[in-house]
Amino acid sequence: MKCRKCPSRAVINMRQHKLALCKDHYIQWILDQTEKNIQKYKMFTKEENILVAVSGGKDSLALWDVLDRLGYKTGGLYIHLGISGENDYSNQSMQFATKFANNRNLQLHIANTVDMIGSTIPEITSLSRRDKTKPCAICGLVKRHTMNAIANDFNYDVFVTGHNLDDEVAVLFNNTLNWQIDFLRRQSPVLHSKAGLQKKAKPFCRFYERETAAYAILSEIEYIEDECPFAVGSTTIHNKSILNQLEHEHAGTKLSYYLKFLKAKPILFPNIDEDFPSMDDLFVCSSCGQPSPKEGKCSYCRLVEEVQSKKLLR
Ligand code: SF4
Ligand SMILES: [Zn+2]
Ligand SMILES: [Zn+2]
Repeated sequence: MKCRKCPSRAVINMRQHKLALCKDHYIQWILDQTEKNIQKYKMFTKEENILVAVSGGKDSLALWDVLDRLGYKTGGLYIHLGISGENDYSNQSMQFATKFANNRNLQLHIANTVDMIGSTIPEITSLSRRDKTKPCAICGLVKRHTMNAIANDFNYDVFVTGHNLDDEVAVLFNNTLNWQIDFLRRQSPVLHSKAGLQKKAKPFCRFYERETAAYAILSEIEYIEDECPFAVGSTTIHNKSILNQLEHEHAGTKLSYYLKFLKAKPILFPNIDEDFPSMDDLFVCSSCGQPSPKEGKCSYCRLVEEVQSKKLLR
């Protein structure tokens, strides 16, 4: 198959776009489409400081690479979660993130849950009152708190994540199946900052996972291929496989599902900007100063307190 734009051999065929491209034109297409997304959803500008959440995986490193190539001012944040597993997941993924930043002379902030809370994510999970078999809820809470704190402390204007279209539709599918109205209302390519919550954006939200993977491989980005061991068997992975079957039968199903949802949102949730998060619903945590839906200490500070008191009792 030939490239749509030149006589070279195509390296990728995107059935949903009816577009086949060679290596050089594909890399340029990803750069152009990312820039279009940033503009379309008013994510950020070249004057702002952008904090990229990096896991050492293909999506976040590809995103950091693209933003750097497009001339945005970026720094990275890697959070060491203390997850080992067969492949020493956290140490391995940190090495990929560090190597990437060093090779490009980019600033990488490294946070470690052992320094912050005194324990790894698996240890925190086993000590907390929550479901001891699934660390993902606690991990998400710790990551959100840390990203917001680093963005505030180092004067970043926005933090960005490498979520791709497959991630977004898997979440959308789950939220629709369960009619999680609050989650549906919040799902967006960009969430503007409010009441101390940092602005967040997902510049890759319209790219299929295979497209970000192809970009990473063609750009020779080295990344950790293994998933976090706790991702195995998750609802998200199950939803992704169902959605892949639909996509296989009708190319473009995932993209259309996501874009039509974004189009319907203003009808489903009028006055969305004023709606969420409502300033009236937020308090300031008495310990860390971050916004919290409850009076007193925020969930993160209560978790830290719980874990530390249990460790003292051991
Ligand atoms: S799969 Fe769960 S534990 Fe692993 S990084 Fe993701 S949220 Fe954290
Ligand atoms: Zn070409
Ligand atoms: Zn707090």
